[in-house]
Amino acid sequence: MTSTVPVLILGGGPAGLSLAMYLRDRGIESRVIEKSSTAGGLARSFRVGPYTFDHSGHLLHTSRKEVLDLVQKRLKVGLNRIERRSVCYVEDKFIPFPYQQNLFYLKPETIREALRGFFRRKIKNPRNFLEWLEASCGSGIGRQFLYPYNRKLWNTDLSRMSADWVPRFLPSSDAREILKSAFYREKEPWGYNTVFYYPTRGGIGTIGGRLADQVSDRTILNARIRKIDLVKRLVHLADGSVWRYDRLVSTIPLPEFLKFAGLPPSPLLRSTGVSVFNVGLRREFPHDFHWCYVPEAHIPFYRFGVYSNISRRAAPRGHSALYIECAAPPDRLGRFRFSSVLRSLQKLRLIRSARDVDVVHRLDLRYAYPVPLLGLAAYRERLARRLGKQGVTLMGRFGAWTYVAISDVMVEARELAARL
Ligand SMILES: Cc1cc2nc3c(=O)[nH]c(=O)nc-3n(C[C@H](O)[C@H](O)[C@H](O)COP(=O)(O)OP(=O)(O)OC[C@H]3O[C@@H](n4cnc5c(N)ncnc54)[C@H](O)[C@@H]3O)c2cc1C
Repeated sequence: MTSTVPVLILGGGPAGLSLAMYLRDRGIESRVIEKSSTAGGLARSFRVGPYTFDHSGHLLHTSRKEVLDLVQKRLKVGLNRIERRSVCYVEDKFIPFPYQQNLFYLKPETIREALRGFFRRKIKNPRNFLEWLEASCGSGIGRQFLYPYNRKLWNTDLSRMSADWVPRFLPSSDAREILKSAFYREKEPWGYNTVFYYPTRGGIGTIGGRLADQVSDRTILNARIRKIDLVKRLVHLADGSVWRYDRLVSTIPLPEFLKFAGLPPSPLLRSTGVSVFNVGLRREFPHDFHWCYVPEAHIPFYRFGVYSNISRRAAPRGHSALYIECAAPPDRLGRFRFSSVLRSLQKLRLIRSARDVDVVHRLDLRYAYPVPLLGLAAYRERLARRLGKQGVTLMGRFGAWTYVAISDVMVEARELAARL
């Protein structure tokens, strides 16, 4: 059976659901094709025993009134405004984040190396991510923290990555700030996410769930795409049904979209996968920070966070809930074992023994971070131009293959709905 719809949306995560909602506001009919049995994408939460987990900690990093109004007033999700407490694990201790703003806490020889590298910076016009890091913080801070952390996260030669996405996440430091940080304790919070928001109840999934409710009558769950015919503008599903569209918006991972559409894959579409270990502990967490960056190569995770320090409801009294993130190319996620995560938690003195662990839930996210390789932006532009002529728009973190957050895709959806 063939059905016709003006706008067909592939993927029912925050991007696809927001788009369908804004299209409805404009009186435009659409359908969302979602492969899972629940919509919400990575903005979903779930319970294991008494603990509430996200698909790894998902916090709303935005100060945009538009997004906060959407979430609080339209979706009616109560939000807590939280001042960030994040740290880095270095020299066998936790120091405040960001590293380069908190040299004060480091050993004297480490501070000397950091300052020497900073004041001997040579690169003026960085051509790639590695050069950007050096130009911004110097090779000392690079070697101590920024290079190993980013290699661990991206699993990519940093000189093959572009730098155009970086300033938003990692503002560069000036000489006064760096010098000051060597001698004084930093008082002011610094960086792009000094304040964040999180639902008062139910984890980030409250937002994904309320978005899904807005367009549940337009969402087809458990849908398996078999083929996309770009010429005839048809999407064939595995159950035999066919959808004819005027405009197709894809938010599903771009490599999969290309496969369904019979287009060639590209080596520029490289992603970092993440194994998320969600852990419930039978004890209070020993620190009050929200999350921690871990650059050391022999510790399997690059970051971990504490749901129960973000929301007291994530775990019962006297217990705590953590997310622990290990990054690798998607086909190598299998190498992470909880036993080595556990040993590292003990080394960091976060648990006393395996008996502290109440529950463990593992999620392997094949698509977690689209790697911003050099040449990717130009490829994306060419592809968008070509697909645009066939009525197709790519959007969302994995659909458009770009490093964006939930609030970004919500804004992108509103803007796109106005153009369709
Ligand atoms: C480890 C990690 C931590 C993050 N932390 C944060 C954070 O703290 N704050 C924040 O704002 N953002 C965070 N993000 C980013 C956030 O998850 C994304 O920006 C957001 O989910 C993008 O929404 P989306 O709809 O584009 O993609 P998704 O949420 O991935 O949704 C895509 C949807 O498409 C569906 N789909 C996939 N393939 C198919 C198919 N073949 N057919 C039909 N449907 C399909 C999926 O099931 C999913 O529902 C994080 C991401 C990761 C990986």
